[in-house]
Amino acid sequence: MKHFVGIDLGGTELKIGIIDERGTILYKDAFKTDVSQSGPRMVEYMAQCARTVTERAGLALKDLTGIGIGSPGLLDPEKGQLKIVVNIPTLNDVYVAPEISRILGVPVYLDNDVNAMALGEMYYGAAKGYRDVICLTLGTGVGGGLIFEGALYRGASFTAGEIGHLSIDPDGLYCPCGNYGCLERYVGRDGIVTRAKSYLSKGMKSTIGDHLDNGEITPRAISKAAEAGDALAIEVLAETGKILGIAMASLTNVLNPQVFVIGGGIANAGDLILEPARRELKKRAYTIPAQAVQVLQAKLRNDAGIVGSASLAVSRS
Ligand SMILES: [Zn+2]
Repeated sequence: MKHFVGIDLGGTELKIGIIDERGTILYKDAFKTDVSQSGPRMVEYMAQCARTVTERAGLALKDLTGIGIGSPGLLDPEKGQLKIVVNIPTLNDVYVAPEISRILGVPVYLDNDVNAMALGEMYYGAAKGYRDVICLTLGTGVGGGLIFEGALYRGASFTAGEIGHLSIDPDGLYCPCGNYGCLERYVGRDGIVTRAKSYLSKGMKSTIGDHLDNGEITPRAISKAAEAGDALAIEVLAETGKILGIAMASLTNVLNPQVFVIGGGIANAGDLILEPARRELKKRAYTIPAQAVQVLQAKLRNDAGIVGSASLAVSRS
């Protein structure tokens, strides 16, 4: 049996787990990230944490086929180099994969976290058995991962998959990326919450106020209200799905994927978003690719980071 370690690099913690070739997590743990540490110290720490997880799973480093690191930000997967990690700037320009590989004597692969999740969903999650997969994560931002013929598509300079920055409205909301009307501004966290607030400010009745998170309206609060039958919350999520469906229809026409896998916290709303998205996709896309494509909710959920990162090593084994 082969074993793979997945390191999900985050600004507040490192989530590290070890999986077998069936995708079963044998052991996982989370380690605090100290962003004040120097780059070399962070690399040492990551290696040490990976070693700890391996030992706690009852294995040795020689039992590992590979280690995968999923990271946010800009990076070079061929060189294993992080370029810009906004939450952990001391790692900028650090060759994290070759360095950890040198310390532990195990092959290490680096890629962005959404690409990692897309692979994880294809090997072990909702897209199992498919080879042309588009993965979307809905959270604060909207990320995308593209897999064609079973392999990640990274583009000429490794930035492919920025689905959150597809323009869906030429005169729409300003986006920090410099463009206007980007998808992310409408189906990301802030877009959803802003839409809900604007309806509420017009005096529309809703029970969203009964489900607040620490006094705040969040996508989760809106989902809870929608699940309890709140019409306004259902409408806000349906609009979100509709906008998502507009983008997915274009992607379907261009790329003819077998499946969209939708993950991230906001996707926990499930069919409240996905069903309107499917309807809009079918309405707008060409018939043949629209009939071929499935829109599925991601399966790996909270383990997407670990299993996805480990899948970067699985894909090279
Ligand atoms: Zn943008």
